[in-house]
Amino acid sequence: MIGLAEARAYVLDGCAPLADAEVALADALGCVAAEGVVVAEPVPPFANTAMDGYAVRAADTAGAPCELDVVGLIAAGSAGDLTVGPGQAARIMTGAPMPPGADAVVMVERTEALADGDRVRIDVAVTPGTAVRPAGDDLQPGDPVVEPGQVLTPAHLGLLATAGRSAVRVVRRPRVGVLSTGDELVDGDAPLGPGQIRDSNRPTLLALVRQAGFEAVDLGTAADDEAAITAAIEGAAARCDALVTSGGVSMGDLDYVKVVLDRIGDMRWMQVAIKPAKPLAFGTVPRPGGGGRVPVFGLPGNPVSSAVSFELFARPGLRKLAGRADDDLVRPAVRAVAGEALRRSPDGKVHFVRVATVIEDGRYVVRSAGGQGSHQLTALAAADALAVLPDGEGVAPGGEVEVLLLG
Ligand code: AMP
Ligand code: MG
Repeated sequence: MIGLAEARAYVLDGCAPLADAEVALADALGCVAAEGVVVAEPVPPFANTAMDGYAVRAADTAGAPCELDVVGLIAAGSAGDLTVGPGQAARIMTGAPMPPGADAVVMVERTEALADGDRVRIDVAVTPGTAVRPAGDDLQPGDPVVEPGQVLTPAHLGLLATAGRSAVRVVRRPRVGVLSTGDELVDGDAPLGPGQIRDSNRPTLLALVRQAGFEAVDLGTAADDEAAITAAIEGAAARCDALVTSGGVSMGDLDYVKVVLDRIGDMRWMQVAIKPAKPLAFGTVPRPGGGGRVPVFGLPGNPVSSAVSFELFARPGLRKLAGRADDDLVRPAVRAVAGEALRRSPDGKVHFVRVATVIEDGRYVVRSAGGQGSHQLTALAAADALAVLPDGEGVAPGGEVEVLLLG
């Protein structure tokens, strides 16, 4: 057995960032920017009002309450051909350009329209600049809106649009194929024959891929048959950036994933000192027709094992393909309090216990989410974290425990 850190380092070593590509803003969320972008124009581009109200000369309001002549109305989007002279005001709407002559805005709540709107009573004195957003208040020409390496959030997409961009260069979003293997697997609602079970790994893993921000490609199910698995993997390697398989990587006689990957790929078969998810295969297969190599994550078949293995190995590796920084690959660990005993026996492995968290007095408190068998997906569904129990006897109630927050 090798340790988690060694196995993960091996996986990460085999994953390199994909090439970059120009994508529409609508497709860029969560991607890593491969270029820096600066604004050419000030943002906002002109001084405008932060409130609905009246644009005034602040000096005119010194003796408030006072009355001013209303010279017109300036809406957002107006080209701004009004001027405000001494003793005058202009009705103005949020976002509209400040008219020449005015240097402040009195919010409408502190005014009263008189004489059918031709005049206005101002109830409060304002100082120059009140409720005015100057040109360039957010960004000056040449200011960066995105730096290379930035993970693009919704607000970054807004900033890019503000900079006049409809597309941006990013590290390409990985296309990840997911394949289930096993003669016992049945898809969908077909009746179960003797010895058969339903394929639950594929929907779970496809969703984990999507939840991590990658494009998921459903490769279906392959029987425990060398030719079928070869065809599935070679076909997938031609159109995916990475492959995730489940099943067939243990010591069973019919573990043909192992046979096939050993023949066509460059794989390492690992026994990792963790529970669940001890067996792990990782390596690369050639992309048919040339064009580099495709990382393959051979995850164990048990439903909880494959999901935990995805969390601990595939997700970090895929994030590396997506251009994430080295310190942004694995889930951050937080300290929590055991709300009940989390018992285990010494076996040389680190245990990842499916737990549910609650926040009590500002601290994470965790309790077992149910049966911890590697076939018991129910507890994983009820869990929102994995408690990390180092080799030993576990944690007593009230003890401190490290947890990886999922989701
Ligand atoms: P294997 O790794 O192929 O030896 O499978 C280990 C266990 O996981 C067996 O009980 C399999 O039936 C089960 N299993 C494998 N693949 C799947 C799957 N796609 N969905 C649900 N269970 C699976
Ligand atoms: Mg199998």
